[in-house]
Amino acid sequence: MNFLDIESIYPHLPIFAQNALCYGYGLKEARVRFGKAFRRKLEELTLSEHWSEGCIESYQDEKIRELIEYAYENVPYYHNLMNSLKLVPADIRGRKNLYKLPVLTKEDVRQNFDGLVSKKINKRRLILKHTSGTTGKSLHFYMQPSAVAFQWAICWRHRMRFGVERSDWHANFTGKLVVPPAQTKPPYWRWASSMQQALINMHHITPSKIKDIICFLNRYNFKFYTGYPSIIHTLAVTGKDAGLTINSPPRFVFTGAENILDYQRQDIQDYLGSILTDTYGCTEACGGASQCPEFVYHEDFEFGIMECVDPSPADKNGRIKGKIVCTGFANPAFPFIRYEVGDIGIWEDAAKMCRCGRKARMLVNVEGRIDDYVITPENRKIMRFDYIFKGTKNVKEAQIVQEKLGAVKVRIVRRPQFGVQDEDDISRQIAKWISPKLEVTFEYVNEIERGNSGKFSAVVSKIKRDAL
Ligand SMILES: [Zn+2]
Repeated sequence: MNFLDIESIYPHLPIFAQNALCYGYGLKEARVRFGKAFRRKLEELTLSEHWSEGCIESYQDEKIRELIEYAYENVPYYHNLMNSLKLVPADIRGRKNLYKLPVLTKEDVRQNFDGLVSKKINKRRLILKHTSGTTGKSLHFYMQPSAVAFQWAICWRHRMRFGVERSDWHANFTGKLVVPPAQTKPPYWRWASSMQQALINMHHITPSKIKDIICFLNRYNFKFYTGYPSIIHTLAVTGKDAGLTINSPPRFVFTGAENILDYQRQDIQDYLGSILTDTYGCTEACGGASQCPEFVYHEDFEFGIMECVDPSPADKNGRIKGKIVCTGFANPAFPFIRYEVGDIGIWEDAAKMCRCGRKARMLVNVEGRIDDYVITPENRKIMRFDYIFKGTKNVKEAQIVQEKLGAVKVRIVRRPQFGVQDEDDISRQIAKWISPKLEVTFEYVNEIERGNSGKFSAVVSKIKRDAL
């Protein structure tokens, strides 16, 4: 059972029945996520994260050889692809040979869905997953249950770096419709006790309901919060604007699934006083990176390979920027080999060492989605605007939209104190940091719409890329 299957009945059920369904859903999920495979993997991961560079390299090369051999033998798409390229598994002996295979695009996955499923695995044992994607085109793929467990072991290794445990109660801020948006009386939360979790969906974090939500959070001593940074950010600014405080704030906030913006991090930390740590991953579960206690993203090298494709020349700090392309080790039932995730990443200078001692490659940041950038009159591509809003305390949320070349529209959800001065400051910052020639207009909105999965987009381009 999942929320999609029952979405038509769920909103009409009484609250106790909704809680029971959340419990049941959680129980079913917990069986897949946290079974024997999870425990074994987590134990391995807490050891392997301290491996030397040599060990990491030989582990990844061995995993690539295994995956390529398996895909060639059992996955029709890769068998045909390698034949057409006159390649045999022996041609790809490790990371350095991966370039011989082309990048796998989302469109390739859509076009070759059946051919990407391993012949060796019974489909009924697999879990059908989908991503909604920012372009509105969904993507379907299969996951084997052991890959789900592996993915959650990666997630829990990150959390355990900060000292939390599986038995700790937490609040999860979600985009799922756990509490129907039409509900006008508390409780605006549901319990998935089977996962030690209270669920609060973004639709209710509004000025009129925030008092009830904060009372609830104050009543329970949640050790940590998890969720999209944009949702926890909405909690922080809405709570602050209402003059409410969280008396027992969580010690940690674990964010993921969206690129965290500087002003979001700042507002969350100011309001909650918690330690905020982030992960980067993709729904397709073929690569990712998690922050260490030094707040540096390290590749989760056990899970897959992350390549920086079409890299820019190194900047003055030795950092390179390029497309994130992932090869996942955990899910041979539906292998993603050299899969273009759709994000741009910035990698740290490979010669640098992290103070935490981990040797896995480091990412400085994930810049944004490949398609979501603004083009300046100087023909520069800008993906992040968050530093523009860093000094402006009166912006609750902002989105930059480019509808035509030479201009941008700044869509803003204002805080009560917002004034003309703020508008001037933002225009000045854009002229200074982005381009003095860019025409800037403002639009004031009550909220910024989310995508299908509830994700927030900081930059939206409506310019057809073929026209450029
Ligand atoms: Zn580190």
